[in-house]
Amino acid sequence: MKRLPSDVKLVAVSKYHPEEAIMEAYGCGQRCFAESRPQEFQKKYQDLHLDGVEWHFIGHLQTNKLKMVLPYADLVQSVDSLHLLQEIDKWGRTNGKTIKVLLEMHVAAEETKQGFTEEELLDILFNAEKYKNIEFCGLMGMATNTDNEEDIRADFSRISHWFSYLKDLFPELVSFRELSIGMSGDWPIALEYGATMVRVGTSIFGERQY
Ligand SMILES: *Cc1c(COP(=O)(O)O)cnc(C)c1O
Repeated sequence: MKRLPSDVKLVAVSKYHPEEAIMEAYGCGQRCFAESRPQEFQKKYQDLHLDGVEWHFIGHLQTNKLKMVLPYADLVQSVDSLHLLQEIDKWGRTNGKTIKVLLEMHVAAEETKQGFTEEELLDILFNAEKYKNIEFCGLMGMATNTDNEEDIRADFSRISHWFSYLKDLFPELVSFRELSIGMSGDWPIALEYGATMVRVGTSIFGERQY
C-alpha cells in the first residue's frame, strides 16, 4: 500500500463497523473518524468518549437530525444544499457554536450523487459573511464510481482546479484550505490532485455489513 504523506489527514470511515473496530484503530493511533448516519454517529460518539479524537460527518444530513450531529462534529464534510447550510447556520446561532463545514461539490457522472455546481459554490462564497455561524473549510467530492482511471482523474481534476480557483478568489476565507477527495479505491490518485484529507473505510476496516 502506498504511504500517505504526513501532511494529508487520514479520515477513517467507520460507518457500519462496530465500536470495537474503532477502538482497535484508536489503539493503533488513529485519531480521526467519520460516520455517515446521524444516529450511529451520535451513539458511537457518546459510547466511546475517546480522548483527542476528531469526528467528521460525511453522510447526507436531514435538517431534522442536526441535533444528533452538530453538537459533536468537528467537521461536517457533506453540506450539499443551500437549505442545509442555512439550517446549520441557524442551529449554530441558536446554540452558540460555529460549525466547520466542507461544501460538497458534484463532480461524479452519477446523477444520484449529491453536491453543488460550480455556480452554486460561487454564489455561496460570495455571500459567505451572511453565514455568521459557519466556518467554510473547503470542498469535499466523490469521483465517479468506476474502474476507468481517466474518468476518476477528470473528476478529481475538476474539483481540484475549482478548489484552487475559489481559494484565490476568496483569500479572506482563511480556513478554506481543505480538499477532501479520495476513498479506498482512488485515494492514491486523489493525492496527485492535492487532497489534504482522504476518507478511507474499506481499506482500513474491511467490507461493510449492511
Ligand atoms: C463510505 C464513504 C467513504 C469510504 O468509502 P470506502 O470505499 O469504504 O473507503 C468515503 N466517503 C464517503 C462520503 C462515504 O460515504
